[in-house]
Amino acid sequence: MGSAKDKIESIRPRPSPVADIVKGEHPLQSERVFRLLAENLSDYALFLLTTEGIVASWNPGAQRMKQYKPQEIIGKHFSAFYSEDEKAAKKPDKELEVAREVGRYEDEGWRYRKDGTRFWANVVITAIREETGELLGFGKIIRDMTDRREAEIRHRFLIEAVTDYAIYSLDRHGNITSWNSGAERIKKYTADEIIGKHFSQFYTKEDAEAGLPAKVLHTAATTGHFEGEGWRVRKDGSRFWSSVVITPLRDETGELVGFSKITRDITDRMRLQEKIQHHADELEVRVAERERANAELEAFSYSVSHDLRSPLRAIEGFTDVVLTDYGSQLPEPAVALLQNVVQAATRMNRLVEDLLNYGRLGRIQIEKLPVSVAGATKAAIEQIDEAVRGKVGLSIDPSLLVFANVATLTQCLFNLISNGLKFYPPGQTPHVEVSARRDGKSIIVEVKDEGIGIEPKHLERIFQVFERLHSDRAYPGTGIGLAIVKRGITRMGGTVWVESTPGKGSRFYVSLPAAS
Ligand code: ADP
Repeated sequence: MGSAKDKIESIRPRPSPVADIVKGEHPLQSERVFRLLAENLSDYALFLLTTEGIVASWNPGAQRMKQYKPQEIIGKHFSAFYSEDEKAAKKPDKELEVAREVGRYEDEGWRYRKDGTRFWANVVITAIREETGELLGFGKIIRDMTDRREAEIRHRFLIEAVTDYAIYSLDRHGNITSWNSGAERIKKYTADEIIGKHFSQFYTKEDAEAGLPAKVLHTAATTGHFEGEGWRVRKDGSRFWSSVVITPLRDETGELVGFSKITRDITDRMRLQEKIQHHADELEVRVAERERANAELEAFSYSVSHDLRSPLRAIEGFTDVVLTDYGSQLPEPAVALLQNVVQAATRMNRLVEDLLNYGRLGRIQIEKLPVSVAGATKAAIEQIDEAVRGKVGLSIDPSLLVFANVATLTQCLFNLISNGLKFYPPGQTPHVEVSARRDGKSIIVEVKDEGIGIEPKHLERIFQVFERLHSDRAYPGTGIGLAIVKRGITRMGGTVWVESTPGKGSRFYVSLPAAS
């Protein structure tokens, strides 16, 4: 513990050292301190050479950089640090000569360590003279710049290697200060031709006159970024569609020092996009036209079918009356002919009904609710002709529900089951099996028969209206049943397809969204 007097002494301001500094008497100004400084500079090799180039001092930085201990190198000539070629070319002597003549020599290049490895050095040699001018020797300072040089090379190489992008920099005013090979490729100017010129010459006359170059730099400088697309002009006057990014470059204090600019030629992409857009527009127009034509056609066929119904019924009804009331008075061939008329009218009636059903499916709103697959299948089976109804097997888990319209689903299943029962070789007892299973978020219903089957080449077209593979005499029908199935299932958000082996049988599948 010091006395109170000591304490006061310690807080009293000391006399300013400035006077000492001016007189050159401050402790920092002793030669010893300079030596200490040299000793502690471990990032720099700092050593002295005699007028002949003999190493006279060696600091720890020099030892670290060059690997020689002071006792190994002091007294040796400094040419030990140079390659054989450089020694033969008298490079060490020439450096000292320059320093002797002009006072200083500076250089960057490879220097060698004791073990022969090299490093990239920044070297300064200074002549040390007496006040009288007499040369005392040289001071040499070396910095290891290997890392920095490599980083610079990597950076330069990276920018140079990019040929798809024009990468260049501008000063604050928009004058070009660097130019990579991508810029040369895209804009056709060499670096020599363009560095120093203003970047506005890449703009079209209109854009330049509208002050666009200044505007984009202003945006980049004020918002920190500019991005845009537009026409630019190459050296030969040709234009290209460019995508541009401009970033302001600032120094550590935030002062704007220039801009970096990355430009890409995206003319091909732009043209392709234009083409695609053009095709898409055309396609849209054509689809709309076709949809309108289709709708018109359907409306027309619907009204025709509708209007055909009553004359048809009249033909059927009156012929029937003639047959019943006057059949006995007619000659046999006339009866047979009139029976043909009734048959044809009945068939036409069926056709018209089916067509109307098909047309209606395209127009009505289809309301969807959870529907039991087993329930809809049972309802479909009940509509089957009693004579063959018993030939249908049903194995469906009653808990399976689909999102569907019960009437539409029942009609589709009815069509598939009746087809399955119909397309059997003559004389063979038909059998149809209906089953269902869950498949992820869907339920797949399968209607399987062991009938005549379908050739692979017909598997697609049988779902189109009026597409039939057999004569009406062999297998009566209208050719609309499967078209109704396809339209109905598709409108309920499902899909339908078939697998078949001719002579073995067919499996029709309906997939619908599960409702639970
Ligand atoms: P239709 O049964 O009235 O002829 P569809 O549209 O229901 O019309 O069927 C179209 C055609 O597809 C049928 O004519 C037939 O050739 C073929 N087809 C449909 N279902 C089967 C099946 N289960 N087995 C074999 N062929 C079938």
